Amino acid sequence: MEAHIIVLPGDGIGPEVTEAALAVLNAIGAKFGHTFNTAEHLIGGIAIDETGTSLPDDTLAACLASDAVLLGAVGGYKWDDPSAKVRPEQGLLAIRKEMGLFANLRPVTIHPDLADASPLKQEKLEGVDLLVIRELTGGIYFGDRERWEEDGEAWAKDTMIYSASEVRRIADIAFKAAQGRRGKLSSIDKANVLDASRLWRTAVLEVAEDYPDVELEHVLVDAATMHLLNRPASFDVMVAGNMFGDIITDEASMLPGSMGNLPSASLGESLNRFGLPRGLYEPIHGSAPDIAGQGIANPIGTIMSLGMMLRHSFGMEAEAAAIEAAVDATISQGTRTGDIARGTQQAVNTQEMTAAIIANL
Ligand code: NAD
Repeated sequence: MEAHIIVLPGDGIGPEVTEAALAVLNAIGAKFGHTFNTAEHLIGGIAIDETGTSLPDDTLAACLASDAVLLGAVGGYKWDDPSAKVRPEQGLLAIRKEMGLFANLRPVTIHPDLADASPLKQEKLEGVDLLVIRELTGGIYFGDRERWEEDGEAWAKDTMIYSASEVRRIADIAFKAAQGRRGKLSSIDKANVLDASRLWRTAVLEVAEDYPDVELEHVLVDAATMHLLNRPASFDVMVAGNMFGDIITDEASMLPGSMGNLPSASLGESLNRFGLPRGLYEPIHGSAPDIAGQGIANPIGTIMSLGMMLRHSFGMEAEAAAIEAAVDATISQGTRTGDIARGTQQAVNTQEMTAAIIANL
């Protein structure tokens, strides 16, 4: 197979971790006989410096014409001024919107050898293997908002708004994901209070009729945040609207204790030349400006994001599984970057970690 991938290294450690992922991609290409054509484009702070905008037109055009996009991270001290008109994060929001990426997938697993890095007790972590699916382009983050003054008081209003079809399309992705896993779906809402959540629940139930083999439960968001701490292994797939998903994904990403290992995929309705989603794949961490340029970033989150790309955008299950197994083996062998090294463990740098993963492929 020949696939065309746009790489957006971005800022901070972004270029370091995408370079690592590309080395793994080359190794996969050689091992499995695929040709991966890659082209780098600007996004984020570096794009602001070079073009004045955080998402240049040619970057967007290249992404829309690609089979999939790999992103490092955006942002950094240099562009932190909150009053600045152009900000790196705008590029990220814009590319998600322009590519119609309404579903954000974040799998969370915990390698047993890394369990001691978790803030939770070891016994709670056994069997944790969950996938959070967050609706990304609707809900309260995109509803009407207003600020006004009345009777000498300042007021503000945000609107949580969903259409049934918006809920059905994300629910459909979540049910399919559950079918491919342990067959359980937890839909997160606040249906005891919010109308938008009652609509969410009704639409999820409609979609459930097409998936009788999936066990569906509805969990109120406040209870879900408790259960994630108390019995995280009871979840398989969780699906939530934009704001609840934002909170749940961040909470879930803390279960392994370090963000450096965790990948994500953002998918939409737009399909690539293989009839599969033209997704955007990125580690969940940011640009880590505190360690940028030192060559010590953990590349695993980006390498695992690449694995998700191979699975979701190219249908390469064996290749994705090979990456996951290689990362698992590397951690089992005790190879650690600084963020996941503990006690007397000697930390390796980004290149050494990448080479160890490639050697395990
Ligand atoms: P961060 O994720 O960049 O860093 C948090 C901490 O984790 C830092 O100490 C960092 O050194 C460490 N860390 C993160 N990834 C690591 C890795 N792969 N290896 C080793 N250590 C790692 O979050 P932050 O410090 O809140 O944000 C820094 C910048 O990143 C900000 O400008 C923020 O806006 C931006 N950001 C971007 C994204 C994105 O591009 N998707 C996401 C979050 C934050």
